[in-house]
Amino acid sequence: MKVAVVGAGWAGLAAASQCMALGMDVTLYEASHKAGGRARAVSDSRFGDLDNGQHLLIGAYRETLAMIARDVGADHLARVFKRLPLWLQSADGQFRLKKKLGLGHSTLTDAAALWCARGLGLRDKWRITSLLHRLKKDQQQPSDAETSTVSQWLLAQKQTPEACRWLWYPLCLATLNTSPSEACASLFQKVLIDSFTSHQADALDLLIPSCNLSELWPDTIAKRANVRFGQVVREIAPQVTGVAIDGVEFDACVLAVPPTNLERLVRHLDGFEQLAQQSSSFEFRSIATCYVSVGNHQPLPAPLLMFDHQTDTPGHIGQWVFDRQACMLTQPRAQLAFVVSCADHLDKIDDIELGRALVSQLKQALPSYTGSVIDARCFQEKRATFAALPGLHRPGTQTPHKRIMLAGDWTDTGYPAVIEGAVISGIKAADQIAVLAKGLSSGLQ
Ligand SMILES: Cc1cc2nc3c(=O)[nH]c(=O)nc-3n(C[C@H](O)[C@H](O)[C@H](O)COP(=O)(O)OP(=O)(O)OC[C@H]3O[C@@H](n4cnc5c(N)ncnc54)[C@H](O)[C@@H]3O)c2cc1C
Repeated sequence: MKVAVVGAGWAGLAAASQCMALGMDVTLYEASHKAGGRARAVSDSRFGDLDNGQHLLIGAYRETLAMIARDVGADHLARVFKRLPLWLQSADGQFRLKKKLGLGHSTLTDAAALWCARGLGLRDKWRITSLLHRLKKDQQQPSDAETSTVSQWLLAQKQTPEACRWLWYPLCLATLNTSPSEACASLFQKVLIDSFTSHQADALDLLIPSCNLSELWPDTIAKRANVRFGQVVREIAPQVTGVAIDGVEFDACVLAVPPTNLERLVRHLDGFEQLAQQSSSFEFRSIATCYVSVGNHQPLPAPLLMFDHQTDTPGHIGQWVFDRQACMLTQPRAQLAFVVSCADHLDKIDDIELGRALVSQLKQALPSYTGSVIDARCFQEKRATFAALPGLHRPGTQTPHKRIMLAGDWTDTGYPAVIEGAVISGIKAADQIAVLAKGLSSGLQ
């Protein structure tokens, strides 16, 4: 089977990897000159290797971690992440939730971590525990979760202001990149069910990449596949026994591009009108990452600190700060990475100015921090994620043409716009092509 995959983000790469594992002949088309899409390494003249945005994975990303282990090896997987058991800590020290090591995993050990959390009262903890218990028991969401926002759902679940402030709102913004007042409750529930109520021992581990994002896995697949870097695919032409990609014929293809690009590719195709319309209805939210090299740095109290998400204090810009020296395998200079979610308001801020403002936000929360800004490099991804709004219709893997499949974090993966969703969608598309191939060989298609 000769397969074209358009888009070498994590979804397209997963599709390519799975197709290759199934013995197919794969050609990858990628508009840019680097594999990884929205999760890729970027080379900077002053900072060296950076990523287009600081990423965080969790232990519940089963398919992603399994794919990295299969393609690059379990040793590599163990080496390229700094793995922390659940550990959320605010920069100002008011809040701390940390799972103790060595207690094994059960609902009880997670509950113990919660009941020992700093910054939450007994009532807050009781309400959180009850909510998690209900999610674990029911697993499926109530029907109005599709149309409710996260804030509405949390209110209906009698969550306290402090539980929202320190736990639910930060988790919502971090996973959905959409503010709780507009984010979709059912997607948020899916994230909570997969992480907080999972039977998997390490589902709640935080996995901070300790090498650049392309080295994690994308570069390996790009080296194995036949990749056409720098080729923007402009024409998909369905045929009776295949699909032509810019005039080159294949037996099948996977379109693993973001919704706006997909709309451009399929809007002229017969039968694809609804898909084109669906793709054009997505809204997006941006994320900014500001890498700051600091002098006179001292290690932060945790490799990852969160800022109080409910403060009106002037100068409150970022939500998270990563101590890169504590996370990266090779990080000769002290470096912090600040993450600003829903960052559309940050237009046209100078890198150094933003770096200074973020370090001063850190010092306001953690007055003992002595670091000072030497240099800063900021990346703002305007279309970092789709806005996870209630009632959003996301297309599945199959399209009106049986030889054209879709993949991408925005397709109907059940997850928000995260790496795990992208990888799942790619695997699904490849498996669907395998089904097609089987049908063809048995003369059923
Ligand atoms: C700043 C930032 C921070 C994030 N943080 C996290 C995080 O902490 N954890 C997490 O899990 N997720 C995070 N995400 C989300 C995660 O990066 C995405 O969900 C994932 O990378 C999406 O992969 P994808 O393959 O679906 O899409 P993309 O990565 O967008 O890949 C699509 C690819 O298609 C190519 N393409 C488009 N059109 C064409 C064409 N016509 N011809 C050829 N190629 C084309 C593009 O160049 C691109 O490489 C973050 C994203 C950003 C931007």
